[in-house]
Amino acid sequence: MNKRYLVALDQGTTSSRAVVFTREGHLVAASSMEFPQYYPKPGWVEHDPADILSTQIEALRAAVRKAEINPREIAAIGITNQRETTLVWDRKTGVCVHRAIVWQCRRTAPIVDELKEKGYGDMIRKKTGLIPDAYFSGTKIKWLLDNLPIRERAEKGELCFGTVDSFLAWHLVGGHPHVTDATNASRTMLFNLHTQEWDDELLQMLDIPRAMLPKVVDSAEVIGVLREDIIGEGIPVAALAGDQHAALFGQACFEEGMVKNTYGTGCFMLMNAGDKFRLSESGLLTTMAWRLNGKPTYAFEGSVFMAGAIIQWLRDEMKLIEHASESEAVAASVSDTGGVYLVPAFTGLGAPYWNMYTRGTLVGMTRGTGRAHIVRAALEAIAYQSRDLYEAMVKDCGVECTGLRVDGGASANKLLMQFQSDMIGVPVLRPAVLETTALGVALLAGLAVGMYYDLDATSRGWRVADSFEPQMEKEQQQKLLRGWERAVKGALYWANEE
Ligand code: ADP
Repeated sequence: MNKRYLVALDQGTTSSRAVVFTREGHLVAASSMEFPQYYPKPGWVEHDPADILSTQIEALRAAVRKAEINPREIAAIGITNQRETTLVWDRKTGVCVHRAIVWQCRRTAPIVDELKEKGYGDMIRKKTGLIPDAYFSGTKIKWLLDNLPIRERAEKGELCFGTVDSFLAWHLVGGHPHVTDATNASRTMLFNLHTQEWDDELLQMLDIPRAMLPKVVDSAEVIGVLREDIIGEGIPVAALAGDQHAALFGQACFEEGMVKNTYGTGCFMLMNAGDKFRLSESGLLTTMAWRLNGKPTYAFEGSVFMAGAIIQWLRDEMKLIEHASESEAVAASVSDTGGVYLVPAFTGLGAPYWNMYTRGTLVGMTRGTGRAHIVRAALEAIAYQSRDLYEAMVKDCGVECTGLRVDGGASANKLLMQFQSDMIGVPVLRPAVLETTALGVALLAGLAVGMYYDLDATSRGWRVADSFEPQMEKEQQQKLLRGWERAVKGALYWANEE
């Protein structure tokens, strides 16, 4: 039977998806299943591991049914996942000792404060590329070990820690391999990016026994075959990658300096930073892009906290629009914002400003300012914030960038994409397949089973559908950017005067 298809399992924060692709990267069918979120205390977020597993298996079965293919035609499966979310389970039974602690969960913020007070911040940054934060898995594992009667079993190797990729691999692959890939490992705050191994000093710092950690594998590597009872066929499971890393691969950003931005609730921007470890001078994270044949490729990562979320705010709180997509027509009804700037620092500003006390400001209004100007200012704010990250990355990387590859829900907005291109002065490229996370891990799996010879062949799976070229006069662009910088300064000033 001709093995023409690749399947991605995309285990996200609110739903589990499965997507079937052809070897050329065309999307054949997709299926997705939502699952409940648990908020046991303010700021705490958990998932039931049984939900993660059952929705992922159901989504896989449904996608294969929808695609009307024979499971024997599937060459390989890749797993991509919500990053940092932490699970600990029994090595014999697979039963978890606690619900999954989700990346968003803030319960370990005090542990992070303590690490910083003890002066570990610099060592963590130099070894892991990360800025210490409760997002990352390390402090979540420590919380489980400190708050449940499990330490002794963990030390004896009777328990396994894993992020969602690792948990799914253990449960779905025959023989229960206990593995994770280098991209997921790079989000634990325990993984040394230089040695590409778990780091003893970091483990000691958090008092985590090495015996509970998975083996770190490449992002494209056959780790075993899918249990036959799942869809009736033992298909190679051939790739693991965290969602943002898979999206960078799915956007075919294979060369140093290539960048992708995902416009969702927030924005996630990643740049391929080549094969040498470097720290950013603008407060961006250094992380793995992927690891192939034992060779690491690094990435710079930054995020915008409020992106599509501003559009939701306009819709739900301000009632200026009825649907997110309406923002485009409303904004297009005026030729500019009439000098209005919205700085959506509702929860502070991230890289390159890093000020958690800033709050949202709306400046430059006149008697003539109306709804359309404010909606337009909100869309432009998404582009300005992304531009600030982009500039920081280009500066840190020092490589000329030729285009920004985009995806995510708000990338559907043409006005936003055009304005983005005008602000960064390079083309914004929107690909035909916007499911770049799923595509990325499918292509990685294809690479592992020899469906593609090299990255060049893999990149044929990426095709541009829409290109937005910079059109604005330089003078006008500079004027707008100066206005934005003044508006940000205003917001920072307002916070600093407190
Ligand atoms: P996430 O994966 O973070 O849930 P999605 O990629 O599904 O996000 O994108 C949804 C976000 O994009 C929402 O915040 C929504 O407000 C915004 N959005 C969706 N369509 C548009 C549009 N046409 N214009 C602007 N924003 C949009």
